[in-house]
Order: sequence, then C-alpha cells, then structure tokens
Amino acid sequence: MSNLQLPTSNSKRIAIIGGGFAGMTAAYELGKLGYQTFLFERASELGGLASTFPIEGTRLERGYHHWFTSDTHIIAQMHELGLGDRVQWIPSKTGWFENGKIWNMVTPLDVLRLGTIPFVDRLRLGFAVAYLTYLQASKNNLAKYEKITALEWWKKYGGNAVWDKVWSPMFRGKFGAEAEHISMVYIWYKIVLRIGSRRGVSKEELGYPRGSYQVLIDALENAIRKQGGKIFCGATVKRVVIENGIATGLQFADDETSQAAQKQLGNAQFDKIICTAPSFAALKIISEFPREYVAKMNAAKYMAAVLLVLKLKQPLTRIYWMNIADRSIPFVATIEQTNFLAPDIYNGKRVLYVSNYLDAASPYFQMSRDELFNAYLPHLQKLNPGFSPGWVEETWHFKEAAAQPIMPLNYSKMIPEHRTPLRNLYLANTTQIYPEDRGTNYSVLLGQEIAAMVEEDAKRDA
Ligand SMILES: Cc1cc2nc3c(=O)[nH]c(=O)nc-3n(C[C@H](O)[C@H](O)[C@H](O)COP(=O)(O)OP(=O)(O)OC[C@H]3O[C@@H](n4cnc5c(N)ncnc54)[C@H](O)[C@@H]3O)c2cc1C
Repeated sequence: MSNLQLPTSNSKRIAIIGGGFAGMTAAYELGKLGYQTFLFERASELGGLASTFPIEGTRLERGYHHWFTSDTHIIAQMHELGLGDRVQWIPSKTGWFENGKIWNMVTPLDVLRLGTIPFVDRLRLGFAVAYLTYLQASKNNLAKYEKITALEWWKKYGGNAVWDKVWSPMFRGKFGAEAEHISMVYIWYKIVLRIGSRRGVSKEELGYPRGSYQVLIDALENAIRKQGGKIFCGATVKRVVIENGIATGLQFADDETSQAAQKQLGNAQFDKIICTAPSFAALKIISEFPREYVAKMNAAKYMAAVLLVLKLKQPLTRIYWMNIADRSIPFVATIEQTNFLAPDIYNGKRVLYVSNYLDAASPYFQMSRDELFNAYLPHLQKLNPGFSPGWVEETWHFKEAAAQPIMPLNYSKMIPEHRTPLRNLYLANTTQIYPEDRGTNYSVLLGQEIAAMVEEDAKRDA
C-alpha cells in the first residue's frame, strides 16, 4: 500500500534541474508539501546515473547498482511508494583477481587467505580494518581522517605491502592519477558502511529492487505527476536567469525538445530553483556565482566511468563483484549481474559489466564500443581462458563524465553550501555528499534535505 500524502495548495513554482534521484526526490517531497514543481532533465528518460536500458524484456541499470543494508533512506522511499515487496536482499559474491587467480573476498577469513601478500601483512590488514570498524561510533574521528591521505595511513599502520598490493591497485583503478591524494575518510567510511551492511561476520547481503531501479524511477515519476508536478525530459537548461543577485527563471537550449519544453511551459519564471547537475555542468549554466563559491564548487573533481555491458551465453566467472588488482588489465572491475540475480530474469542469458573509472581524457573513455571490446577481449580471457567472442550475443556501451567526485583533504571546510550566494538558487549534487560516498541512497536524502530547506525559506519569505 502506498502512503502518498495529498498535496495542499501552494502557488509557489519550484524548478528542479536534473531528473536523477536527487532531483526526482526533491520534486516528490515538494509536491507532497503542495508546491508546483517543474522537473527538467536533459536526457530522454529519468534516472540520471541510475537510469536503465531495456534488456531481455526487463530493464537493467546502465552502470551496475545495488544497495547496502545501511541505505535506509532509499529503502524507506521504496516502502513509502508501495514498493516494499520489491526490496530483496541477496548474499554477495565478491572476489579479487591477481596473479592469474580469482581470490574470494567475502569473509574476514578470505582476507587471511589472500596469498598475494605475506601472512603478517594480511594480519596487519585485518587488525587495521577491525580498528577502523571499531571507530564507527566516533564521528569526531572525521576531522582526524580527512587530514591524512589513505596512502600515508596505510603505509604507517598497515605496512607498505598492504598499500602496494591491496589499496593502491583499487585506488588507482577508481581514482586514476588522484589515487595517492585521496583522503583516509573515504576508506574509513566505506569500511564502516560495508561492514555495517553485513548481518553477521561471515556474509554480506546486498539489496536490489525486483524489476530494477526502473520500478522506483517509475513510481517517483507517477507520484510527481499525480501531485500535479510537470516533468520535461529531453529539456536541457541553457541558463539560469539571475536578476540583481536573485535567480528568477530558466532559459532552454536551442534543440527541438528543449524548445518544445519551453513552449509547453510558457512561463519560465520560478520562485525557487534547485540545481542537481554536476558542478561543472552547473557552472556552465550559472555564471554569476562569486569567486569563493566557484572555488568551492571546483574543490572536488570528477572521475568519469565507462561501462561495457555484455550479454553472454555462459558465465565468465562465479563472482558478482570482482576487483581487478592485476594492473596489466585495463579495467578495474567486472560485475557479473547474473552471479547476483538469477539468470532467468534475463531469459537465461548471463550479463556482465566491464567497468572502468578514469579521466575523461583517457583513450578508453574516447573509444567506440567495438574498439573497447577489442581492447578488453584478451584481458577477459585472463579471467577465464575459455572465453571467446562467440559467447557474446549483444553489447552496450555507456559513458558518464561525472561518475565519481573526488574530494581533497580537509574537504569538510570546502563543501559548497546548498543555499548558494544567489538568492532562491540551491545546489544539490554528489559533491555535497560527505563523508559518505555518492550513491542513490544519499541522493534521496539530498533531495529530501533540499526540499525541507526550500520549504523553510519559503515560509520565512512569506
Ligand atoms: C558506474 C556507477 C555505478 C554506481 N553504483 C551504485 C550503486 O551500486 N549503488 C548506488 O546507490 N549508487 C551507485 N552509483 C551512484 C548513483 O548512481 C549516483 O550517486 C546517483 O544516481 C546520483 O544521483 P543525482 O540525482 O545526485 O545525480 P545524477 O544522477 O547525476 O543526476 C543529475 C541529472 O542532471 C541532469 N542535467 C545535467 N545538466 C543538465 C541541464 N543543463 N539541464 C537539464 N538536466 C541536466 C543530468 O542529465 C542528470 O540526469 C553508481 C554510479 C555509477 C556511475
């Protein structure tokens, strides 16, 4: 049963730029409060980084997605929208590829068995992780861990081998050239959340909505429309109009669908505007921010992601999430969806993501789908020597320029405020999620928080 609240009447017009989870949630929450919401998404469909594509009669995220049990905000949203029965928890199978071998990485015992580093270093790794987990309760440690890089911390407390053989390969893969500058906060919080995600020491369960993220995207879209909210897909905002330091309206790009949105909208004046676009995209459409705020918006950099999705006749490995520690391999992870969900969902086909986080200038980001497949092929054969192109029935290729923000040291002092220096203009994007790492759960929370802020300000203005 859905718990939708009926909107009260409120004549204030709120524009939301971006139809990802932050934007959709903000529109939904403001709709509940009775505001007139207008959601603009430049892509042809809603969902942002968590959007899906059709495959074998169902939908699948363009980039692999799951929940941790700590993702309480998005799970609550699922329940609120009547989708509680779609929430499923599944034991995960995590692995590690190095020295030509797949190592299990599910339980603490697996870490002790990891044969790529000396036993004494495995023990140091285990103790260090246990120590970090123990620190969970102490939020004051944030200040301590954001001052130090992960490299410095691990070399000091875990030893060189633990950094060189465990964290460094993962970091280089996820953060590229920035790997050695990433703050220890990132690992500390990841460990806290991942361990907190376990219902016992021996297994980890991950969540996934039955029917894919699309069920929640559809439910949000329906709820927003039911509230009277207007949704415009294929509508690219070209400029936020600022008059005397106050955000007053929007202008749209010259392409056909954006102009059609403009025409349908008629009045492009708004009382308040929320921008959920990545910071670099926001800066293209808002040029009036003072220099200090622009510096904050530029403090976090973004890594891009490139995904190759393969529909296969048979499994590549037995692992769902495989970290690739072997640096001769030009991708950072394989995520075999059908080692997580039953292949029947995809008509018995096997589905594999080959994932890379990189700088948008990297040649791998520029490659076409076929170039990428050919570049990856010999390396997929390292994971399974039997693998051949004949196993592949279909391929998809997705690129995201703002996949992962990278926070510098002491970032808590540089986060751009949600209430921007331009009146009636709010910023709500993944660079403001800290110390948690970006994720749909936190974009839902961001959308809720920004809606509450808009309501507070609207009441004050009244
Ligand atoms: C490969 C990959 C794997 C991930 N795995 C997980 C996972 O397992 N679990 C999880 O919870 N999260 C995961 N995430 C992260 C998650 O998808 C994001 O954190 C979340 O979806 C971000 O939502 P958002 O609304 O904050 O931003 P976005 O989804 O980036 O939404 C911003 C929107 O603004 C739009 N926009 C930008 N400029 C304009 C403009 N000028 N006019 C109109 N629209 C504009 C964009 O098109 C976009 O849709 C993953 C991300 C990636 C890339």
